Amino acid sequence: MQKRDANEYVDVIVIGGGASGLFAAGRAAERGKKVLVLEKNASCGEKLLLTGGGRCNITNDCDTRTFLAHLGSGTEALFSAFAQFDVKDTFTFFEKRGLPLVVEARNRVFPKSQRAQDVLSVLEKYVRDNGGTIRTKAKVKKVEADESGVVVETQSARIAADSLIIATGGLSHPETGSTGDGFRFVESLGHSVLEPSADLVPIEVADEWVKRLSGTSLSFMKMTVFLNGKRQFFKKGKVLFTHFGLSGPLILNSARAVGELLKQGSIMISIDAYPDTDIAELDEKILKVFEKSKNKMIKNVADDIVPHGMADIFSLLFPAIPPEKKVHSISKEERQTIARTLKALPVQVTGLMGMDRAIVSDGGIPLEEIDTKYMRSRINPRVYVTGDMLHVNRKSGGYSLQIAWTSGYVAGSAV
Ligand SMILES: Cc1cc2nc3c(=O)[nH]c(=O)nc-3n(C[C@H](O)[C@H](O)[C@H](O)COP(=O)(O)OP(=O)(O)OC[C@H]3O[C@@H](n4cnc5c(N)ncnc54)[C@H](O)[C@@H]3O)c2cc1C
Repeated sequence: MQKRDANEYVDVIVIGGGASGLFAAGRAAERGKKVLVLEKNASCGEKLLLTGGGRCNITNDCDTRTFLAHLGSGTEALFSAFAQFDVKDTFTFFEKRGLPLVVEARNRVFPKSQRAQDVLSVLEKYVRDNGGTIRTKAKVKKVEADESGVVVETQSARIAADSLIIATGGLSHPETGSTGDGFRFVESLGHSVLEPSADLVPIEVADEWVKRLSGTSLSFMKMTVFLNGKRQFFKKGKVLFTHFGLSGPLILNSARAVGELLKQGSIMISIDAYPDTDIAELDEKILKVFEKSKNKMIKNVADDIVPHGMADIFSLLFPAIPPEKKVHSISKEERQTIARTLKALPVQVTGLMGMDRAIVSDGGIPLEEIDTKYMRSRINPRVYVTGDMLHVNRKSGGYSLQIAWTSGYVAGSAV
């Protein structure tokens, strides 16, 4: 490695001005290091701005033990990192910097302002106020590292440093800049990279009624997943209907399991729109609605029968019942069919959506190759890795960003 021909020298280079890179850079700069962030886009944090639908689900408000229990293979490996920076520290960090946080349903935490942009501003300020430099439109092309330090090459410069933090993200939503460059860099240094695949990803379905509901969300549903007609598992939670299929927390958190089953055969999902009411009770409820509105057309009472938002697609759900049919002429069998269908709306899965729609990509550097107490490479002690570069299974609900903050803090504290 030729450090002598470098035209710049700093203590720490951070590749990637996303969530974990900016956090790591701010932390290292706070400790007095001369830090340079290299970001290939014209501005930092493009993915961060997409988070939580632009509101940024910044973390999940639970204790460390509960949090880690959701991380699969990361549970043990990240214990020491979370002992250094956990969910409570995230609250303190942002609130101390003038960004109050609020806890919403399912312990999801958002900035009170509801703006991801405010989160990004705090991070950029954290770097700059501590004397760090953020250089945008600076795409790193090559990385060299040995025992004595690192050299990083961009289009226009060769920059040497004592330490390197690689924070280039995973592969989801590549238009935000995370195109897998970091995986190539670490491979060139001798690391392995587990094949990234889309994770926390929406499910593509064939059914027209689902697509027609695009934009509607139903906050409490039960879905049961069938493989080749055999029941596999069920979960309850919120479903969001989209123009390509199903999304929302319940779906995103089941996508990995559905993806595995898809390799084995045909997948059908049955959605129970009233999981807390049995068929007899539901039929009773429908009967009461009918008794009150005997002379109305069924389409005009649909809103009282189906979950809010679904009345418009009544005729798609029940094609055998003409929407103009008067309630008094609906047979007992037809009424019972309505109840049975609402308890088991069938959806044919055609696949999982790709990286362009995934919240995170699975895969990345196996944690065994990283000393997670410092987020330091076990192959080259000058190199550190953070955020979505790491192979950690996680749920939706603020878990990914908390991992970005924690790994960023730990790497920034160790360099
Ligand atoms: C639509 C969407 C919504 C999400 N919502 C949430 C949420 O609400 N809560 C949550 O916890 N998580 C959420 N996530 C996941 C979360 O955004 C990521 O886990 C997080 O951004 C990872 O941070 P990171 O620093 O590892 O990578 P990123 O934020 O992806 O940053 C990587 C940066 O590296 C830069 N880069 C890449 N290659 C180079 C190179 N060669 N040279 C220079 N720069 C380079 C990229 O341009 C990018 O800016 C969401 C993700 C998506 C896609």
